[in-house]
This record gives sequence, C-alpha cells and structure tokens, in this order.
Amino acid sequence: MFRGKAPALWLLIALVALGAPAAWARDKIPLPKPRPAEAPAVAARAAEKPGADAPQTEAAKPPPKPEPPPPTACRLALTDAIAIAPSIPDITGPGSCGGPDLVRLEAVVLPDGSRVAVTPAATLRCPMASALAAWVRDDIAPLAATLDSRIAALDNFDSYDCRGRNRVFGAKLSEHGRANALDIRGLKLANGRLLSLTDRTTPRAVRESVLQSVCARFSTVLGPGSDGYHEDHIHLDLAQRRGGYKMCQWDVWEPLPAIAPLLPAPRPDEAPPREVADRPAEPDRAAPPPAAPEQAEPAAEQPEAEQPPPPAKKSAKKKRRTEQRL
Ligand SMILES: [Zn+2]
Repeated sequence: MFRGKAPALWLLIALVALGAPAAWARDKIPLPKPRPAEAPAVAARAAEKPGADAPQTEAAKPPPKPEPPPPTACRLALTDAIAIAPSIPDITGPGSCGGPDLVRLEAVVLPDGSRVAVTPAATLRCPMASALAAWVRDDIAPLAATLDSRIAALDNFDSYDCRGRNRVFGAKLSEHGRANALDIRGLKLANGRLLSLTDRTTPRAVRESVLQSVCARFSTVLGPGSDGYHEDHIHLDLAQRRGGYKMCQWDVWEPLPAIAPLLPAPRPDEAPPREVADRPAEPDRAAPPPAAPEQAEPAAEQPEAEQPPPPAKKSAKKKRRTEQRL
C-alpha cells in the first residue's frame, strides 16, 4: 500500500532533511545582543579601549625625550656679549671621551663689540671656553694694543679630540678627549701680522707676556722645551689636580742670532800665525831619530798637537761640505 506513495514520502523526507539544519543553525548560533541605547559612540569607545590595540599604539610612539638639564651657571654667564658660543649636544664616548655643557666657540667678543674669530671654531666645555674668552678680552686685547693693532683671530690647532696624551696610543686620556683643552699656534692681528707663539722671530717680550698670562689662567701650559711634543704650539687646559697643582712648562727661547751660525768665528788674536798652522806636519813626524830628544819635551810638543792638521784630503772634504751647506 505504500508503494504508490513512496516517491512523495521520500521527497517530503528530503525536504525536511535539507531545511532542518538551517533552522537548527538559526536557533543554535547566538546573535549579538542589540546595542543598548546608553552605550558610548563606537569611535569614542575605541579610543578609550585599553585592549589589544593599546600596546601597538604605545610601541608606535617615539620614546619621550628626556628633559634637558637646566643651563649651568657658566652657560648663563657666557652671553653673546662675551663670546659667540652656541651650546651643542653632550658627547658621550667612545670610552671616557666627551662631556657635558659643551659649546662651539666661534668668536670672542671684545668689550667694544668687535669679534676675535676662533679659526676653526673650537669644541670645548663651557668653563674652558669662558676662560679663553676672559684671557683674550683681558690680556690679549691689551697686548695687541701695545703693538699698535688689535687682535683679530686665534689660530686653533686642536680642541676636542678623543685621543691619548700626545696622540700616543694607549696613553692616558688627553684633556682634549674631555673637550677641556685647546692647542694654539698663534695670534693674528688686524693689520695682518701673525704672532707665532713658538717662533723665535716673534718678539721675546710678546711671547713672555703671553706665557705669564696663560700660566696665571690655565692649570696646564705646555710649550717648547716641555716634552718634545709642543715645539710648534702651546697646549692650554683646565685639568683639575690634587691640591690645585698647576703645570707651566714653556721655555721662551732666545731670538735667533743676527749672524748666521754657519759662518766661521773670527780668528782670535792669540791664535798662532797662519804660516805655523799651514806648515806641513808630515815631514816633522817622519823626522829621523836625532829629533826624538826634542819631541820628548812636552813643552815643545804641545803647540804641535793643537795645530789643526792640514792634510790636503781633509781640507777638500771640508770645503765640499761648506759649499753644500751654503
Ligand atoms: Zn694639546
């Protein structure tokens, strides 16, 4: 009896089987609850949300910059009326090199407003720059006035330089590595004259005046005659030592003699006559035995020994050497 109704029944079963899962799914999968009316706006809530998005936002932000330290008393005192010395960032390393409170000393400003250029500009700690400015203003400017000119520039040979003393590898850190030193070769005057501090042709009085002034102001002064490394410049620094010990080593050499030292000295009056000095010595030395008793007397032999030997060979050599030197 079911045989005739079978296709319709199976069709019904199939339709139920296909529709049932969808209806079942609609009933089982939870749908979000409707948004309550009192909920905050979507955008505002996303901004306040401390969820998974928050760390990414923090990571994307650059780290906050540390607060710059307040200006030092030196920095406040070193105004544009004293020096053109803008502050530059601290230098840290390598090693112990660098330091805080750095400036780039470009010029010293004199009381009349004129500028003394530092060429090239020097990288220094503020106290060292300040000491240099005071030295130029109070000592060097008046010195230049005595020479009927004014100071125009300082010849900066070296300032900050991360290195050992005297550029010796492995030596103790130089004050240059702490931006606490300046090497200076000379002073340039407005009239174009260059006063080299280590040149013997620079008036000795000028060099001595500079020596007195720097040794009164700086804790280390090294120049010619100090250690062999400062024959062509003067080293100045503000190194702090136990007991306030200062080092002032600079020999102000005598000016070069007016007469060239290569010229022979004038013949002294007490020198023996030339005919005696030019007498050939060989025949006397080859004298026969009868001369021996005379040579035994020291008084007779002494003048012979002091006479310059006149062999022709040596005289020619000496002559050639003199020609080369001239
Ligand atoms: Zn130096």
